[in-house]
Amino acid sequence: MELIGLEKIWEDVVQDLSGKVAKPSLKTWLHKVRPVSKIDGTLRLEVPNKLVKYWLEQKFNSFILDSARKTISEIREIEYIVVEERSTKKRRRVKSFSYVKKITVFETNPQTNLNPRYRFDNFVVGNNNELAFASAQSIIEKIGQKFNPLFVYGGVGLGKTHLLQAVGNEVLKKYSGVKKVRYNTSEQFTNDLINSLRNQTIDDFKLKFREVDVLILDDVQFLSGKAKCQEELFHTFNVLFDAGKQIIFSSDRPPIMISDIEDRLKSRFGGGLIVDITPPDIETRIAILRVKTQEKGLLVEDNILEHIAQKITKNIRDLEGALNAIIAKMKNYDKINESDIDDALKDYVSVFYTKVTPKKIIKSVSEFYSLKEEEILKKMRRKEVVRPRQVAMYLLRDLGKMSYSAIGELLSRRDHTTVIYSCEKIERELIHNPDLTQEIEIIKSKVIQG
Ligand code: ADP
Ligand code: MG
Repeated sequence: MELIGLEKIWEDVVQDLSGKVAKPSLKTWLHKVRPVSKIDGTLRLEVPNKLVKYWLEQKFNSFILDSARKTISEIREIEYIVVEERSTKKRRRVKSFSYVKKITVFETNPQTNLNPRYRFDNFVVGNNNELAFASAQSIIEKIGQKFNPLFVYGGVGLGKTHLLQAVGNEVLKKYSGVKKVRYNTSEQFTNDLINSLRNQTIDDFKLKFREVDVLILDDVQFLSGKAKCQEELFHTFNVLFDAGKQIIFSSDRPPIMISDIEDRLKSRFGGGLIVDITPPDIETRIAILRVKTQEKGLLVEDNILEHIAQKITKNIRDLEGALNAIIAKMKNYDKINESDIDDALKDYVSVFYTKVTPKKIIKSVSEFYSLKEEEILKKMRRKEVVRPRQVAMYLLRDLGKMSYSAIGELLSRRDHTTVIYSCEKIERELIHNPDLTQEIEIIKSKVIQG
């Protein structure tokens, strides 16, 4: 990242804006704005107070975005951050950050849908993903012959997409011009199919997915309930498999736990090797942060990385988000102390948790167990809803921070002792039931990520 460059860029943006918006107040404000960072298409601007933030965001955001894009085309979003007046109390300043190089911007290849930023060499291996990593790597040596299909599952933000794309990129590198790779999310696959049916180009669709040597399909849980897509995928799979081509799938859960998928497809999913990725331990989290800071061209002291890794424990996407929040918060580009970090994380974590509402919890639980929301909310005696309701109660308490009696009312059972019983039952089971732990982690990540 080039910070000097950023100041210059901002000058150009201001210049461009002044030509467009004839408002003296805007001019005055813009001079109090400073660019802090540009990370992954987000330009962060420091503004002196909430009022300025409000006006820029509400009234001028589209103009600013427009002008910024003229200068740097990859910008997709502007973030305004208020810098509160610093207290006069002396803070311990340690030199802990420095920018060491320019970052490279990676772009997705439209032919393969692969993004070159996802590689094996920047995928940190820990005991949470060791097996998945080794399996993915071994595919390269024997495409289509070793683990076919490879099915990788794990919660949100744990590196599935990164690993799958790394396989694709490695194949392209090693067999350049020889092997064809195609990466798609299951959502893209679905949309493509729908469009090809509408435009009567189904033959093109078939060819596109069947002419490859390696097909990577991400997030196949998305195909749940989509019969036509499942049928098409089933045939695509058979053609590829019979021709000895490699297929790699990912999902947020193991095949048997994906609801509304035809049995014949489910058995294909599980017909090769199934491996999971779980949340990383603290060492792995620190190592990941180190790699991410290097990629951003930053050199960050270990104690700072450790501090972040201790606070953000669940998922790697959040770990990166927290790191970005901290970088954005930095006033002097090369100095930060622990209280700055705590401030930045506090903002980050609170933004993160305000997203949790009882409604989202109920929605995520019912989606996960393929039930209707009413079935969780209403008093019903059906056996299949007992466990999901217990999980819902547990999450309303654990994530939603609701009182037992409020949960009782929400679930139309006044008696809060039932709620206590349910929550405790789940808590006890979590200790020795890894499947339940995983179910709950998946649901939690759905709630949190919206
Ligand atoms: P998922 O597909 O499981 O939701 P992603 O692959 O999108 O997760 O990972 C989220 C972010 O975390 C990405 O930026 C990815 O590069 C990063 N990440 C995940 N696992 C690792 C890892 N082991 N080493 C380095 N970066 C990782
Ligand atoms: Mg993914």
